[in-house]
Amino acid sequence: MSDVFDLACNLIRRRSVTPEDAGCLALIGSRLERGGFRVEHLRYGEVDNLWATHGSAGPTLVFLGHTDVVPSGPEADWQSPPFEPTVRDGLLYGRGAADMKGSVAAMVVALEQFVTAYPDHSGRVGLLLTSDEEGPTNLDGVRKVAEQFRRTGERLDWCVVGEPSARQRLGDLIRVGRRGSLSATLTVRGVQGHVAYPEKARNPIHAFAPALTALAAERWDEGNQDFPPTSFQVSNLNAGTGASNVIPGTLRALMNFRYSTASTADELRARSEAILQRHRLDYAVEWNLSGEPFLTPPGGRLRETAVAVCHELCGVEPEQSTGGGTSDGRFIAPLDVEVVELGPVNATIHKVDECIALDELEQLPDLYRAVCERLLAQ
Ligand SMILES: [Zn+2]
Repeated sequence: MSDVFDLACNLIRRRSVTPEDAGCLALIGSRLERGGFRVEHLRYGEVDNLWATHGSAGPTLVFLGHTDVVPSGPEADWQSPPFEPTVRDGLLYGRGAADMKGSVAAMVVALEQFVTAYPDHSGRVGLLLTSDEEGPTNLDGVRKVAEQFRRTGERLDWCVVGEPSARQRLGDLIRVGRRGSLSATLTVRGVQGHVAYPEKARNPIHAFAPALTALAAERWDEGNQDFPPTSFQVSNLNAGTGASNVIPGTLRALMNFRYSTASTADELRARSEAILQRHRLDYAVEWNLSGEPFLTPPGGRLRETAVAVCHELCGVEPEQSTGGGTSDGRFIAPLDVEVVELGPVNATIHKVDECIALDELEQLPDLYRAVCERLLAQ
């Protein structure tokens, strides 16, 4: 089979469940070193990150990806073992096939082909890979690498993230930004007591209910031409002892904003707390900002190039979206880098029987190579 297929299978075979790397980065690093790349392993804590570059002065185009995968769940639920790459009906099955060992293999192959065809290309091409993307914290992955790049003055210009972005077929959707994610853990304090003596207790459920109604009804912003309106969701709500005759002493709610560039995290925090205070709640709230929104505006060279490449190689006009969850692009974008996400169909990611279409896997290196050629071939 082809180079990209072989490499994708080799990666899928490795049980690299976050933050485990299972040799993926060493394999890719030594391969790129043989191809003339300068390779560094940036280790933070238990996490390995790979930084490989080729070229010298001039603008830098970097491909960004992760080799870790989410757990498979019970292997018996899969039609074929999750860590045994298997082809059925034109699809390659295995954990990570679409998210995102297929793209990682395609990036490696595309970069090798590009520097072989254009050994004296202008600027630099690079590959940045982490094994800490799918975990709950991403503490030692691209977040740390970005901090190091900021400290050392490492300059990047364009970043292609290989996350599975497509809806139905390769090239039909690219991401040109992401919403921000702001979470809150809210504790509302009451006074526990017997339900028959409410005058001796204070019920935090009753106190929170009208505040929750106000939070849920609030129109946080109208969005803008690039982003849908900010959304607010309560994901967990807990109170009560399990007994029907006890007024609970506390209530806990987990809440999350997915927010547009029409609002800032500070504004959302302040407005939420104003609602809580207006309802005279005795509360404590802990905020966690896991990612600020970012946008690669129209007219940028990378965004225009990605659109043109999808159009010419895939024959589709890609939707240019800021939807979906967050990605490691959120750490790179603040370094003043144009970020675009372009990858395979995301229909099966994080599911049992995750797969990638073979024809898309074979075409992905062409897309990534075409981006290199248009930006840096001369
Ligand atoms: Zn991913």
